[in-house]
Amino acid sequence: MALFPAEVGVDAATGALTARTGRYEKRLSEMEGLFRDGAAWARAAEAGDPLVYAVEEYRAEGSDLFFGTTTIEAGEVGGEFFMTRGHFHARADRGEVYGTLSGEGLLVLEDREGRAETVPMRPGGLAFIPPGWAHRSVNTGAEPLVFTWVCNLDAGHDYGPIRARGMRLLVVAGAAGAEVVDSKGRG
Ligand code: MN
Repeated sequence: MALFPAEVGVDAATGALTARTGRYEKRLSEMEGLFRDGAAWARAAEAGDPLVYAVEEYRAEGSDLFFGTTTIEAGEVGGEFFMTRGHFHARADRGEVYGTLSGEGLLVLEDREGRAETVPMRPGGLAFIPPGWAHRSVNTGAEPLVFTWVCNLDAGHDYGPIRARGMRLLVVAGAAGAEVVDSKGRG
């Protein structure tokens, strides 16, 4: 299959691509068990079920790479900011690059040995996600957090471990803004 160069425009405020091969959205009701306050999650999911994030992608079969955008809306559930589900790559030798276009947030990472890190997400910044590190992005601002990502097509997604036990670091709204809480030992 022949692959041809292409320009793909990105709306930095919305994450919309001028050419895309796919899009999906995650509403709050589809994120059961991911926020620490399950009662607050249930109330918010029933009261309007807001959009939490959307992903648009440009995927050319036959390439080794694909790319796209993720746009996380501003909001919180029980004091915990809107975020993506979080995943490991199915292949342990596949990393990823994020580039923030607008908004502000935190990239939360942890490896399979339990080490945890955060990387700021702000316009102009690139974040390196090493192979073997689960990653979740969190919108800590008042506007949508929009970022691009570039990944290997064969990286695959493994959502299971995060769905089962969450991530070690939580990002919550504190008195002085976003705070990172280490849940290790919380049980
Ligand atoms: Mn990924």
